[in-house]
Amino acid sequence: MQINLRGTTALPPRLDALLAGMRVTERQQLVALGAAASCAADEHRLARWITGVYNARWLRLAMCLDCETVEVRDVTRELIPTVSPSVNSPDELLGWYSGSRVNGRTHL
Ligand SMILES: [Zn+2]
Repeated sequence: MQINLRGTTALPPRLDALLAGMRVTERQQLVALGAAASCAADEHRLARWITGVYNARWLRLAMCLDCETVEVRDVTRELIPTVSPSVNSPDELLGWYSGSRVNGRTHL
């Protein structure tokens, strides 16, 4: 299997688009409880949500249980160690999608 390590990790502007193009292999049922004061200080309670393949990269999405902000990490090197020419550190943070209340989850 050929995996292009560079230039494939750009995220679509909306979470909907990312999920639509993702082959999901694992999904946890999460229930957001509503925004909490802690999120205002950028302290999200992130819970593992979705793992899957997007653009030949393994991504892991974690969602804040309070405000539904979604963190996207590239975990390709964690899940497939043979793909690891140590270009970047493993578990690479790719970006965030804001909570559902703010403009429909825009890529930050
Ligand atoms: Zn939050």
